[in-house]
Amino acid sequence: MKFAARTHHLEPEGAYQVLARAQSLEAAGQKIIHLEIGQPDFDTFENVRQAGIDAINRGLTRYTPPGGMKALREVIAEDAGRRRGLHIHPSQVVVSPGAKPNLFFPTLALVEPGDEVVYPNPGFPTYEAMIRLAGGIPVPVPLLEENNFSFDLQVFTRLVNDRTRLIILNSPSNPTGGVIPLSDLEHIASVAQHHNCWVMSDEIYSRIVYDGSSLPSIAAIPGMLERTIIVDGFSKTYAMTGWRLGFGIMPQQLADVVQLLLTHSVGCTAQFVQVAGIEALTGPQDQVDVILSEYRRRRDAIVDGLNSIPGVICQCPQGAFYVFPNMKSFALSSSDLANLCLEKAGVAVLPGSDFGEYGEGYLRLVYSNSLENIKLAIDNIRQVLSLL
Ligand code: PMP
Repeated sequence: MKFAARTHHLEPEGAYQVLARAQSLEAAGQKIIHLEIGQPDFDTFENVRQAGIDAINRGLTRYTPPGGMKALREVIAEDAGRRRGLHIHPSQVVVSPGAKPNLFFPTLALVEPGDEVVYPNPGFPTYEAMIRLAGGIPVPVPLLEENNFSFDLQVFTRLVNDRTRLIILNSPSNPTGGVIPLSDLEHIASVAQHHNCWVMSDEIYSRIVYDGSSLPSIAAIPGMLERTIIVDGFSKTYAMTGWRLGFGIMPQQLADVVQLLLTHSVGCTAQFVQVAGIEALTGPQDQVDVILSEYRRRRDAIVDGLNSIPGVICQCPQGAFYVFPNMKSFALSSSDLANLCLEKAGVAVLPGSDFGEYGEGYLRLVYSNSLENIKLAIDNIRQVLSLL
């Protein structure tokens, strides 16, 4: 069969491929610890589940406006604005089924064929896929391990030019857990203003930060709100990955175009899911803090465990639920190392190279798993690596 050229570069997400291999090993009787899929291991909170069920029972199962229900857009504008120190009008909020459409559609709305788009590498694989689908030229910027895996600012500054249409940021980051320091955001903002670029700030992990202070958003830097798309959602904070609920915040004119793209693709986000989202934002938030302290314990255990293995260097990430240990002292590619972890240690992890060329030499481990499993995984990996 022949398919349109625009699809030829598309590849599956590595996590699903590793999951499939892990499951076939499990079917053959091997015990596997899953540290490959980036989603919370907690259930959606009880009050949110109940709100969704009640909404279905009340018949809230119809179409809504493409950009979302008025009540949800209002609540998001208030909550997301307050957390970032911004004044957001509900008309700047676009609700979508998951955060992904709010990455994809603003990119389609802004990027002309031939425009350059700067993005983090290693980074979330959807960025490169959507840049290419829009006909843009992907311009990867390496991250500096010793600076919270923030952009290598020298390379960044050299690569951005007047052909750069969009700069993509992701803080806290998948796959590194890195948080971009405010001073770096200020530099990135001034470069974006100088070259008149848009910024897409993927803040889906903005509530999963460990140092206690609130996370700076580039949108809060003077002059940036009018050129920034904030992407956020419910998947990670409220353990709602399968509900599919996310949002973007952007200048209203862009929001209007993104709503047209939603109209002609997905139509809208499920109504009862949006009602559950209102409950998530307006209901009690203490469970978010409980989960955060549990993640912090797990992070500390996995970072200490990895650093205690000879040859492994693991930074202590400030956000999200990923660690990205440096494995360069082993004479194997990260893909071979990930295979070894799966097949010999029974631990499913992803090779850093799944997140771009500059991820080679690293592994990505997700610590949304029990402390007990994390400790067992470290012991198994230690044993296998000691044989190399
Ligand atoms: N951005 C990043 C960095 C992510 O890791 C993910 C989920 N893996 C998403 C966006 C997509 O979120 P959602 O599932 O809400 O579409």
